[in-house]
Amino acid sequence: MTTPVYENFINGHFLKNQSGDTFAVKNPATDEVIYHVEVADEFIQNAAIESAKQGFAAWSAMTPIERSRILLKAVSILRERNDELAKVEVLDTGKPWQEAECVDVETGADVIEYFAGLAPAQVGQQQMVGNDFYYTRKEPLGICAGIGAWNYPLQIACWKSGPALAAGNAVIFKPSEETPLGAIKLAEIFIEAGVPAGVFNVVQGAGEVGQWLTANPDIEKVSFTGEVGTGKKVMASAAGSLKDLTMELGGKSPLLVFDDADVSQAVSAAMLGNFYTQGEVCTNCTRIYVHKNVYQQFIDELKTRTEQNIIAGDPMDPEVNLGALISKKHQELVLSYIDKGISEGATLLTGGKALSPASAPNGYFVEPTIFVDCKDDMTIVKEEIFGPVMSVLVFDDEDDVIRRANDTHLGLAAGVFTKDIQRAHRVIHQLQAGICWINSYGNSPAEMPVGGYKQSGIGRENGIETLDHYTQTKSIYVGMSNIESPF
Ligand code: NDP
Repeated sequence: MTTPVYENFINGHFLKNQSGDTFAVKNPATDEVIYHVEVADEFIQNAAIESAKQGFAAWSAMTPIERSRILLKAVSILRERNDELAKVEVLDTGKPWQEAECVDVETGADVIEYFAGLAPAQVGQQQMVGNDFYYTRKEPLGICAGIGAWNYPLQIACWKSGPALAAGNAVIFKPSEETPLGAIKLAEIFIEAGVPAGVFNVVQGAGEVGQWLTANPDIEKVSFTGEVGTGKKVMASAAGSLKDLTMELGGKSPLLVFDDADVSQAVSAAMLGNFYTQGEVCTNCTRIYVHKNVYQQFIDELKTRTEQNIIAGDPMDPEVNLGALISKKHQELVLSYIDKGISEGATLLTGGKALSPASAPNGYFVEPTIFVDCKDDMTIVKEEIFGPVMSVLVFDDEDDVIRRANDTHLGLAAGVFTKDIQRAHRVIHQLQAGICWINSYGNSPAEMPVGGYKQSGIGRENGIETLDHYTQTKSIYVGMSNIESPF
C-alpha cells in the first residue's frame, strides 16, 4: 500500500520541493509508516519568505475586527472537525483518543477564539505634554516563526498562530518532524476561513529547517516550544538578527502535599501530572514532595490506583488512558532513566518496564512508573524525563521543602495541596515557577498566561499580555506649536 506524501504549505496551497527529499512519519502505537512529508529545501524556504511578506502586507492592512471575524470562522471549523483532527493527533503522537477528543483541538480553538476577541480591543495611549501630545500605536512585528514540539502539535500551532495572527503578523510554522500533519490541517482551515494566502505557511523538516528560521533576517520573532538545550541554540542563532523571542521550554516541576491535604485529591493530581499524555507534558509534577505524616497513605493509594485504573493499548480505543511514547528512541531514553533510578538507589513502587499491550503490541509503551525513597540529587529527580515516571520524596518542614523544590535551574510549574489557605498562598508565592496550581494541577485555560521562570522559558503564551509579545509600540509625538530652534 502506498502512503500519502504531504508537500509544504506555502502561499495558500501545497508546494512541491525541488530536492525531492522526504521523511517518513510513524504511528507510535503501531511502529508503521503512515505517511511521508517533503522537506522544506532552499526553494521552499525562499518561497515561504516571499509568501509571508505578501501575506503580511494583506493581513496587516485589514482592521483588527476584520481579522477577528475571519479567525472566529477558523475556530468554528476547528470545532466542527474536532473528531477528524483529534484522530490526526492520535495517529501522529500515540496519545489516547479519550484525551485528544476533548482537549487537543478544543484548547487550540479556545486560544484562537480568545485572541480573535481581544484583537479589536487592543488600544494605544495618548497623553498631553504641554500643548503638544503623543500617542502610541500597537503595530504587528512582521513575519513570526513558530517552532513546535511533538506532544501537542495542533494545540501548539494554534497557541502560536492565535495571538500572532490576531495582532496582524504573518507566520511561518515548523512542526516537529515527528508530528507534521496537524499544522497542515490548521493551514487548510485558515484558508477555508478566509485568511489570505501567505499569512500562515507550514515548512517541514528536522532541526536544520528550524535553524534556518531562527537565522533568517526577514523573520522578526521566533516563538519556540521544545527542550531547554534546543532553546539555547535557538536563542544564540536568533541573536544574529536580534529577533524577539518567546521560549516555552522544559520543566522538572514540584508538587508539595502537606499533611492537611485531601490525600485522594493530591493522588489524582500526581497521577494526572505524571501519566496524562503518557507523561509527555512540559508542566508535569515529576517531583512529588509528600509530608511524612501522610506519606504512607499517599503512596498506598497512589500504587493501588496506578495499578488498577490505567489502561494501556490501542490509543484509538476510547477505554485506553495511557498511550504510546512518541518514538522508539524516546522509549529507550525513558527506560534508560528508569535504569538510572534503580542503579542510584531509588525503590520501584510500581512499573519500570516497556509494555506490549495486546491491542498495540508494537507500540512504544512504558509502564506507569513510580519511584519512592528518592533523594534530591538522583538523576531521575533532577532531569526532565518526559515519560510516565514519577519520583516521590518525603518532607517534614515547610521552609526546607520550599528550598528543595526551588533547587533547580528549571522553573516551569509548581503545585501545592493543603487546606490551610494562608499556607497555600505563602508557599506558592515562594516557589520559583511561572505556572502554579493550588489544590489543582494542569489546567491551562486560554485566559491564563503560561510560561517559565529560570531556564524554563522567556515570555508568556495565552492571557492578555501575550498580545504585547506579538506587537511593537510606535510612539508618535505631535507638535501643536512652533518649534523653538537655536539654529
Ligand atoms: P526539541 O527541542 O527536540 O524540538 C522542538 C522543535 O525544535 C522541533 O520542531 C525540532 O525539530 C526543532 N529543532 C530542533 N533543533 C533545532 C534547532 N537547532 N533550531 C531550531 N529548531 C530546532 O523538543 P521536543 O520536540 O523533543 O519536545 C519536548 C520538549 O518540549 C520537552 O523538553 C518539553 O518540556 C518541551 N515542551 C515545553 C512546553 C512549554 O510550553 N513549556 C510545551 C511542550 C513541550 P524536529 O523535532 O523536527 O527535530
